[in-house]
Amino acid sequence: MTKELLIYLDGKLVPESQAKVSVFDHGLLYGDGVFEGIRFYNGRVFRLDEHTRRLYDSAKALLLNVTMTPEEMIRATVETVRANELRDGYIRTVITRGVGTMGLSPYKCPKPSVFIIAASIQLYPESAYRDGLVMATVATRRPRHDILPPQVKSLNYLNNVMAKVEAIQAGAEEGLMLNDQGLVAECTGDNLFIVRDGAISTPPLSAGALDGITRRVVFEIAPELGIPIRERDLTRHDIFTADECFLTGTAAEVIAAVKLDQRVIGTGKPGTVTQRVIARFRELTQTSGTPVYE
Ligand code: PMP
Repeated sequence: MTKELLIYLDGKLVPESQAKVSVFDHGLLYGDGVFEGIRFYNGRVFRLDEHTRRLYDSAKALLLNVTMTPEEMIRATVETVRANELRDGYIRTVITRGVGTMGLSPYKCPKPSVFIIAASIQLYPESAYRDGLVMATVATRRPRHDILPPQVKSLNYLNNVMAKVEAIQAGAEEGLMLNDQGLVAECTGDNLFIVRDGAISTPPLSAGALDGITRRVVFEIAPELGIPIRERDLTRHDIFTADECFLTGTAAEVIAAVKLDQRVIGTGKPGTVTQRVIARFRELTQTSGTPVYE
């Protein structure tokens, strides 16, 4: 039998078989809650402060009063990884609205629940990292800021789940999501970048892209490597005619995308700029972050 993971749940570490939330939790009943996906590499949690800040920003937007301070959340996150004796893996931190009565009102939920899972992960098969991903544009659009704010990592991910389903049904590994104006927003769980004539572009946050932590890392890496980078509106045409395309996300890391809607992007193989970004990203993940065991 494989060893049970230890899960942080409301102040305690409990075996996964005992880590349970109520059927009356509004996180489950209404998707009312927030989350973060965080990676740790080589015994260090990558960009933990930034993820924690974004978690609290998401909570604030939903008027979700987290009873723990960000410092306590950071400590609990590191402790959860340590308790499971893991060196490389993925953390899922979730804050639910908590147990309440039936009915939407969050004011009937006195106490939010916090749980943290630390486990191993592989999002795409190794071949996808070597050869690049195939994408399809999906019909499901990213919602506008006044409908479901794309900056809030809420437990309401059905928009993304349905988009992912459409991508898989189209025989693709990732779905390209447009906004209500038909401009490129992002993929179902990743930000998107293109390379053309040696320069990197990505849609602005106003297009409906999440302010991805990995996206931010690319904005740090590109100038270091002497590669121009900017935000600009992108259409599907820009992706069809790009020299290279890559996606970023905590789970996916940096990964090439080589086809969109049957159009081959560039040479159809991960390009040189993409490979340079990936190499530097890997260096950073191996050498920086909040230490778990020191
Ligand atoms: N877009 C969406 C919709 C996401 O859920 C995520 C995170 N999985 C990303 C982009 C990438 O963000 P990050 O680099 O912070 O993981």
